[in-house]
Amino acid sequence: MQHRYQILRPDWVVTVNSDFEVLQDFSVVVEDNQILSLVSDDEIADLPFYSEAEIFSLPGCALTPGLINSHTHASMSLFRGIADDLPLMEWLSDHIWPAEAKWVSPEFVIDGFKLAAAEMIRSGTTCLNDMYFFPDEVAACAQQIGIRSVVGLIVLDFPSIWAQNADEYLHKALAVHDEIREYSLVSSAFAPHAPYTVSDEPLRQIAMYSNELDVPVHIHVHETAAEVAEAQQKNGLRPLHRLDQLNLLNSNLIAVHMTELDQFEIERIAEVGVNVVHCPESNLKLGSGICPVANLLENGVNLCLGTDGAASNDDLDLFGEMRTAALLAKGSSANASACKVRQVIEMATINAARALGMADRIGSIEPGKCADLIAINLNSLNTQPLYDPVAQIVYAASSRQVSHVWIDGVIQLQDYELCHLDSQEIIARARSWGQKIKNRS
Ligand SMILES: [Zn+2]
Repeated sequence: MQHRYQILRPDWVVTVNSDFEVLQDFSVVVEDNQILSLVSDDEIADLPFYSEAEIFSLPGCALTPGLINSHTHASMSLFRGIADDLPLMEWLSDHIWPAEAKWVSPEFVIDGFKLAAAEMIRSGTTCLNDMYFFPDEVAACAQQIGIRSVVGLIVLDFPSIWAQNADEYLHKALAVHDEIREYSLVSSAFAPHAPYTVSDEPLRQIAMYSNELDVPVHIHVHETAAEVAEAQQKNGLRPLHRLDQLNLLNSNLIAVHMTELDQFEIERIAEVGVNVVHCPESNLKLGSGICPVANLLENGVNLCLGTDGAASNDDLDLFGEMRTAALLAKGSSANASACKVRQVIEMATINAARALGMADRIGSIEPGKCADLIAINLNSLNTQPLYDPVAQIVYAASSRQVSHVWIDGVIQLQDYELCHLDSQEIIARARSWGQKIKNRS
């Protein structure tokens, strides 16, 4: 078989390997869809395939692993700005759930996903952990676009356009899990929405299937203090305690938000390896509370970053999320050393890969891993002078400075332009949905 070679020549390679090495004067060699090697610039011309390789000269750029959005509802981008300045339950019950009941369809999900995928690729995200209706449609669309995705096999107690009851959701979840097994870029996770929308029996079954199939479980947990208080009233248990009793607290669990945690819970999730996804901007916008990031990091919890859906953020930009996470952790713990730049970059890359069970394939720039890579051009007014490229990425850079994106070795963004998605068409479709929804709601 004829191999295809690409040689990426940035100023810095931020490897995010276990030593967090930042290499200068090194090139990254990509063979087909994989990272073949990291070669010093002095030796690059000696490679036997050098003359046939496609060379990407990236002066002033830092090359990093593609960012991983560990929690989003991509298709909800079509509800961006539909209801603002409201607390979580009012926002959900009075606005989001009625709008979803009225508008969500396969067509809606696909158009919304494309809008989200274009925004994410443009801002350096190469993989997302999604949770929404019609995961089969999302999976097919993601595979076709070429964005790495983990689709959430949604489970609820109540009826929606996707299923009528927990049994049907579970049945469909298993069917979609099987159906997408052959997809190269898409895998699945069970996605029971939250402890307050899914009862014990389906959660027990999900725990069993997750364990049997080694599939992650992606769930909103302890998003607000009110959620915890209501659960205590209803079941006499805090939601995490209930999930523990249902055998869900383990390294397959991806627990999103977690703003409300006591010390016992933090030590328990650290002990059993639960992954936590911090969504700082969504939590701030909904006034939900603040995830105790400094404490979680001190206890060794695997912490990741998510944007949540664009209806509560309102963008899908992990650069914004990285900076907000770093600042919020320092501010809320009154400790400027909490959540350091290295930790923030790891949250958006290798920690997320670990949570998704994909750390052997993505999350760092190391030979043998998939070529999910982004180039960030630091030759901008706002990122000069440059003492430390990693600090500039977290504290000063904008996602507008992402110049190139590769996913699985395929270039998706080149010189700031999307290669395979038509922005104008995507914007036109989004605008048309917006007008329809505005006129009829
Ligand atoms: Zn969410």
